Parts: sequence; C-alpha cells; structure tokens
Amino acid sequence: MALQLKDAALLRTDGYIDGQWIGADSGARFPVTDPASGRRLAEVADMGAAETRRAIEAAERALPAWRAKTAKERAAVMRRWFEMILANTEDLALLMTSEQGKPLAEARGEVSYGASFVEWFAEEGKRVYGDIVPSWMPDRRVLVMKQPIGVSASITPWNFPIAMITRKVSPALAAGCTVVAKPAEATPLCALALAELAERAGFPPGVFNVVVGDAGRAPAIGLEMCTNPVVRKLSFTGSTEVGRILLRQSADTVKKLSLELGGNAPFIVFDDADLDAAVDGAIASKYRNAGQTCVCANRIYVQDAVYEDFAARLAAKVAAFRVGPGTVPGVNVGPLIEEAALLKVEEHVADALAHGARVLAGGRRHELGGLFYEPTILTGVTQRMRVAREETFGPVAPLFRFGTEEEAIAMANATEFGLAAYFYARDVGRIFRVAEALESGMVCVNSGALSTEIAPFGGVKQSGLGREGSRYGIDEYLEIKYLCLAGL
Ligand code: ADP
Repeated sequence: MALQLKDAALLRTDGYIDGQWIGADSGARFPVTDPASGRRLAEVADMGAAETRRAIEAAERALPAWRAKTAKERAAVMRRWFEMILANTEDLALLMTSEQGKPLAEARGEVSYGASFVEWFAEEGKRVYGDIVPSWMPDRRVLVMKQPIGVSASITPWNFPIAMITRKVSPALAAGCTVVAKPAEATPLCALALAELAERAGFPPGVFNVVVGDAGRAPAIGLEMCTNPVVRKLSFTGSTEVGRILLRQSADTVKKLSLELGGNAPFIVFDDADLDAAVDGAIASKYRNAGQTCVCANRIYVQDAVYEDFAARLAAKVAAFRVGPGTVPGVNVGPLIEEAALLKVEEHVADALAHGARVLAGGRRHELGGLFYEPTILTGVTQRMRVAREETFGPVAPLFRFGTEEEAIAMANATEFGLAAYFYARDVGRIFRVAEALESGMVCVNSGALSTEIAPFGGVKQSGLGREGSRYGIDEYLEIKYLCLAGL
C-alpha cells in the first residue's frame, strides 16, 4: 500500500452501516486515485440503493435510543470523536492530500476546521432551548419545544472531504438525529477514516453510517435518500445542477432540505482599500485549494485608479507560487481534481482571451503535466465573458475594471448565485452601503477568509437553502413543537 499512515487501520475501504464494515452487495469496487500522480490509492466498495436503504433502516432503529440520551451524554461521545480527529491530524491530512490534492498544510488546516464543527455542535446541543410564550387565554399555557427531526442524510463534495461531512453530521448528531452520509466518489477515504474514529469514540451502531459508491451510483444513492420516507432531512453541498435534482426528488416526501450550491464570489477592491492587504486577501481567497472552493473569489473587480497597481502587485505574489504535489514541502498550489475540471478552466481562459482579455500570469497547463494548471491572472476581463457568469473552480483570477461604487455593486449582483462576497474599503459609509447592497449570504470586508464554525455559512438566490455552522446550524435538524396546555 502506497499510503504510509501512522495508524494503518484508518485506511478503510468498505462502507460503514449499522456499526459493521461491509462491502457492496455486488462485491464491486471502484478505484480512488491520487490526482497529483494518477496512482491508485485504494479500491472502495461500490454501493447503491439497496445498501443505502439498509443504512437508513439502521439509522431508524438507532434513533429512539440516541434521541433519548441527554445532550450532555451525546456531547461526551462527540467530544471523544473531536479529540480523536485532532489526535490523528497527520494521517487524516495525508489521506486528504493523497485523494484530493490540496497541499498538506491546507489539509491539516481542514482537519482542524472539520473537527471544530464536532466540538462546537457537541456544546450547542446542550443549548437547544424552548420558549414559554405569554398566553392569550387565562387558563392556557403556551410552550414551545425543539425536537430532533429524525433520520438525516448528507451528500457531500470532494473539495473539503472532512469539513463538509462534519459540518452536516455534527449538528444532526448533537440534536439527537441519526445519520447516513454519502461522501464524494473522489474522496471516500477521509469519510471512512472519520467513521473509523466515530466507532472508536463510541457512537452506538446505526447512529452514524457511511455509504460509498462511484459516480455512476451517486444518482441511485441520492434517489433513495430523497424518496425514502424515513429520511426527514437531507443536507447537500455540491453543484447547483445536482441540488435542483435533489430538491425535485424530495418533493413527494416533503423533506426538509439544506442546500449549499455553487457560488460565483465577487471580490471588489475600492480605491480607498489597503492595496497590499487586498492582494493578500485575493491570494488567500482565490488560490486556496487551487481555486476549488465554493467561496473562492471568482470575479475580481478593481476600481480604475488602483487597477494597474493591484494587478502588478498580485502578479508579483503569484510569480512566487510553487505548483506541485501537495505532499511536497513548500508547494502551495496542487493539482485540480480531474480532467474535466482542467478542461473547464481551459475553456474559461480561452473564452476570455477570445473576447479581448489578456494573460498577465499563467494561462495554460503547467509543465508538470497531469492535472496541474498554472496560477493565472487575466486582465481586461468584462461581464460578457464566461468567467463573469460561471464558477471557474480553478486557479484563475480574472480582473474586471469598474468606475463607481454603484457600478461595482451592479456587476457583483449580476448573477443567479449569492454565496460569499468580499470587498476591500476603508470608508465606513461605503463599507455599510456595499455590505448591505451585496446579494449574498456572506460578506467579508477587508479579509479573504471567512469560514469558521461559529458563523452561519450559506447562500441566497440559487446558491442554496439553510445555514451551516453557528447557533443557527442546529436549527436545520430540529422541529419546533407547540404545546398548548389548556384547562388549567
Ligand atoms: P461537484 O461539481 O462538486 O463534483 P456534484 O454536485 O457533482 O458537485 O457532486 C457533489 C456530490 O453529489 C457528490 O457526492 C456526488 O457523488 C453527488 N451526486 C452527483 N450526482 C448526484 C445525483 N444525481 N444524486 C445524488 N447525488 C449526486
């Protein structure tokens, strides 16, 4: 085995259902490969609808006992899980870099970010307060209580193989729900390592289940999750296209859904900005994970007076980037996840150049070959190019030029998406005007990084439904019950 883990038992290749490690009914397996080298890392059980149904049934059986525990009892198990995730940071980071490609330093950061949701929600579970509402009749009392919604399912993408799972699963478990999780086909190893640690932490069988399958099986797994009436809640992070399918498929069972879909984040640099800080923010927001995050700056709008200066300073920093396999020390831009991702980046760059943009840095596949693309900066970009409308999901920074504040806001909002938005400015009036006018679920002022377990993450418009993380995140897994006490 090519992976040198300190704890070899963290490399699991079967699904985890009802506390058992099991293969697919058909015996089929699918390969997991390293995007930096193309080498095969493991062969994972290729499960489908039948295994998913059994996982849902296991979660249903486990629900009454898990729900009946006190929040403190659930928190104790979650706390152990949190500590085990942190204690195994090096192995989890290596698994992540190997199957996903991000540099090891970023992978370590994600392990700690992912673990933070487990810790946060273990604590938040103890604060699921109800209300006593002043009554409207003398002989009645009005009580409001919150109860776990029931069996929950999650479908997650490959770009954050640990954090996307813990961000969904932790509030569910803390609230008293049981869970069936389906990780992305590119990154099942991190999910299965999480399940191994969950087992060691002492979650009872059936409370946390992981179903794994390749891209061909994902629709069947998703359909079972959507149509099975036992599942009361589905949380999905991924493409808008698949989100729409899941929303449609969940109509017949009137399921509660959280959707965290595509973004097309604007990053606006006003002429009163601290330019060096704006360049650093743009680097952090744009090139993290090789540009493959849903909150990555996709469109960088720079005001006339500072456009040339900003572009030059950004180019100087990008020139110092080191591209390569994420396991090599000093590398800060890894490979893209797959060939289709590389093709999309190439198409976006070609389209921009055909419409008059110019290359200031990069602009082509990296000489390392494989799935590597050069960190790229395009200047002279306009709203009619594809990069203005679609998420590029790669290391390409397109620089648009604008004149006035109104123009910047109009261009930033000219998209069906509304996840994250960033801007740099010092004028306090402008900061409030722009922050309030931007149509997005999250606005980050004077920084390029905003994700944390303590704040609500989520989008408006077609970027999604619901919020994850923060005290709001647990509401997604709770139902409100109104108790009317009469005849007093
Ligand atoms: P990405 O562009 O990030 O790969 P996808 O939406 O294709 O986004 O994938 C996100 C997750 O959704 C993955 O776990 C994938 O297997 C799953 N998925 C893809 N198609 C479907 C589908 N039709 N039903 C349910 N899940 C799906």
